[in-house]
Amino acid sequence: MTGDNDHTTRCTIVPPHILERLALSGDAELAAAAREALIDLDARRLHRRAQATPESDRPRRPRLAAGSLEGGPVRLISDAQGGTRLPGTSVRGEGDPDTGDVAVTEAYDGLGDTWALYAEAFERNSLDARGLPLRASVHYGRDYDNAFWDGTQMVFGDGDGKIFGRFTASLDVIGHELAHGVTEHTAGLMYQGQPGALNESMSDVFGSLVKQRKLGHSADAADWLIGAELLIGELAGQALRSMIAPGTAYDNPLLGKDPQPGHMDDFVDTDEDHGGVHINSGIPNRAFALLATSLGGNAWEVPGRIWYAVLTGPGISADCDFVTFAGLTVDAAITTYGVDSPEALAVRSAWAQVGVLGPVDEGEDGSEPAGGEAGGSEPGPVADDDTPDPQPVPSRAVVQVRRSGGLAGLSKTRSISLEDLPAGQEQQWRSVLGGGTLQAIEARVKDGPSRAVPDGYCYGVICDLPPTDVEIPEQQLPDHLRELFEDTLADDGGPGKSS
Ligand SMILES: [Zn+2]
Repeated sequence: MTGDNDHTTRCTIVPPHILERLALSGDAELAAAAREALIDLDARRLHRRAQATPESDRPRRPRLAAGSLEGGPVRLISDAQGGTRLPGTSVRGEGDPDTGDVAVTEAYDGLGDTWALYAEAFERNSLDARGLPLRASVHYGRDYDNAFWDGTQMVFGDGDGKIFGRFTASLDVIGHELAHGVTEHTAGLMYQGQPGALNESMSDVFGSLVKQRKLGHSADAADWLIGAELLIGELAGQALRSMIAPGTAYDNPLLGKDPQPGHMDDFVDTDEDHGGVHINSGIPNRAFALLATSLGGNAWEVPGRIWYAVLTGPGISADCDFVTFAGLTVDAAITTYGVDSPEALAVRSAWAQVGVLGPVDEGEDGSEPAGGEAGGSEPGPVADDDTPDPQPVPSRAVVQVRRSGGLAGLSKTRSISLEDLPAGQEQQWRSVLGGGTLQAIEARVKDGPSRAVPDGYCYGVICDLPPTDVEIPEQQLPDHLRELFEDTLADDGGPGKSS
């Protein structure tokens, strides 16, 4: 697993568990598209870490004083033209006319709608409250199955055309990614365990609010779905997540079944995906949706203001867990609306319904934890002090490769005996496992100043001989290892396959 102090820098919209599943698809084109999404993400991360955005490439407008809403959004859309170099060719700046490219139009409009939510509902000028320009690149990669926020800009793929369509098509996805930027500029919730799941939940909450506000949907009218517009073809009508009914967003042979819990009783304790950040986010997501629907009216008003106040307020810390966050929202509601107000009681009740706070009538301080385990700071299994002394790798050694994380939170696992792999892969695995390479990378990740990437993937590798049990974020892997893992995952012909 990753270091415990990782902070948010980037986010992709398709959870790893979904991309992983697709990469295992029996449909070669789909699998290739999903793999490419994964691989490009990794490569970009490495590239970005090495190269900060040049100053010359930075915003045109001087930063405004905090709190100023002067001027409206500053948007800049670029076209990556099927490549992976960012930002690509600039195609539309603020106020420029429509280019006729629907992806450009959707990105431009979506960034504007997101800016408008923060400005008009919360009096916040852009992600940093100081008018930060909003930049996005479209047509990233080929059949690229993802969208992400890389810490400086949004990036949208065109999708594989079979399962995923254009990633600009979903306004809540655009809002989700940009919300990672707001979180980064405010609470700085670390991307691990419960704080990581809260980080993801904040993005779903504010992403959904962007869409609800744009459509003029009250809480009762809202679909509370994330990414519904992305799924096409036979999956049309399904979504990546459901905030009001976690676990029901999708159920099909291609993607499997939505694994999100909606209650602490079902909290998923996992090392995958930074401790299940795309899975356990279902719990705080549902609390928000329950609150909004119980109060009625527009969710970006009372519920949105409470959540926004906590996210951007002084009480929250980067390692905030569910119970602490819940308590902060209760406090915020009491401060604004009064201790016995319907608003405060509704907040308390929503968290009780998802098992984060105890039943409402058991006390009013909202502090009874109903499930504090699996917090964001639990230590992962510590890598041994494996020095890279070559170890023999038995011919029958079985290696398990697992990819988790990503926007959709899908995970993919394959166990295979090395001798059943193509000769080239078998050779690479022997070298990697025998040389202690993975343990060395994992140790470096733990010790280093690495920063987790929201919605990025993690790869786990388990082997008994030689003893190996590592979990490594994709952006920490050299290209050849990521490709080895992907090739190994992709060749799966066993059960659980999609067809
Ligand atoms: Zn995210």
